[in-house]
Amino acid sequence: MVLATAADLCAFVDASPTPFHVCATAAAQLDAAGYLRLSESEVWPTEPGRFYVVRGGSLIAWSTESSSSATDEFRVVGGHTDSPNLRLKQHHDLSSEGLGIVALEPYGGAWLNSWLDRDLGIAGRLSLRSGEAVLVHINEPVLRVPQLAIHLSAERKAVEVDPQRHLNAIWSQQPGNFLGWLADHEGLDRDDIVGFDLMTHDTTPSARIGARSEMVSAPRLDNQATCFAALKALLAAPAVPGIRPVLALFDHEEVGSTSERGAQSDLLATTLERIVLAAGGTREDLHRAVAASVSASGDMGHATHPNYADRHEPLHHITLGGGPMLKLNVNLRYATDSVGAAVFARACEQADVPLQRFENRADLPCGSTIGPLSAARTGMLTVDVGAPALAMHSAREMMSGSDVDTYSRALQAFFAPA
Ligand code: ZN
Repeated sequence: MVLATAADLCAFVDASPTPFHVCATAAAQLDAAGYLRLSESEVWPTEPGRFYVVRGGSLIAWSTESSSSATDEFRVVGGHTDSPNLRLKQHHDLSSEGLGIVALEPYGGAWLNSWLDRDLGIAGRLSLRSGEAVLVHINEPVLRVPQLAIHLSAERKAVEVDPQRHLNAIWSQQPGNFLGWLADHEGLDRDDIVGFDLMTHDTTPSARIGARSEMVSAPRLDNQATCFAALKALLAAPAVPGIRPVLALFDHEEVGSTSERGAQSDLLATTLERIVLAAGGTREDLHRAVAASVSASGDMGHATHPNYADRHEPLHHITLGGGPMLKLNVNLRYATDSVGAAVFARACEQADVPLQRFENRADLPCGSTIGPLSAARTGMLTVDVGAPALAMHSAREMMSGSDVDTYSRALQAFFAPA
């Protein structure tokens, strides 16, 4: 069961090199489970049901099947669809030393050295002259950013990677037109591509590793492991009368969440409002429903690194395979307070999974996530949770397969409290 879940996570990640693909992968599973895709620009059904909307690289899915009142509580599980990577500049064709080179730039807090010497594919979204947007996923090793040979480093140690000069990728032995090549590859006319969001990804397949294949080595575990676990939880959660489960997956977390579809946008707030209005409720009913609701904001957390244990809070060791994490920070880098913590602790008890409590060292800056932003936007009680990972923001991260399983089971219990 645990191994199957880990294998499913690997398949999810490999199918999802960009936020747009995360939404497409999730949408395919939602479609198969009978969820109906709605358009934000159309009238929504007034009958209860299972629905989802996609706004660019963000997705919200919900079920009202077990709801009989417009004031019923929401149980929201949040996550983010984006991961740090290297993206194509608008004018990107370069030539140097007779080679065809494309100019890339980092998105989010990418751990730049980890992107060197990897065989990179290209994926994303193309906007065509016809007005259509199409997804592209070229999962072939086309690009590579080779690092400097050690012999050419005077100190014989890693050279600091300059994001402007050192991240351009070689893609051809001749100077060329990269977008023209991509259009040919996709059977499109180059002149029809009038906009693009293109990004690179490691083409090495995700893998289960370790003596018993008990761990997962994969790109983008932050935060596709949450997207995967939360979607699986939503689809498996039994209906509980009076509860409306909501899955909210946001783009742009890695760059601050301020966009039309990030966690600071109106996407979740307007969706909740429309769910209440569709059920015949009023603005008053919306505020009553939100006041009764809880959100679990899921994002990956740091397992204690065995080689750098001193970088972690000594009273809060987090073990790979030790189960999901509650993330706390007194300075509100995480939204968790004691009331929210208790809700998630009860979910873990209900699912019979262990719970680890994470706090950062007081002398190191603490990361943040969508929890506080989404809480401020919706006014909803929010708890920040996650699963332990190592090498976060590397092009390749790792986690325990059992944590994918226990994390998903805890989120399932959160969606369907006993
Ligand atoms: Zn994250």
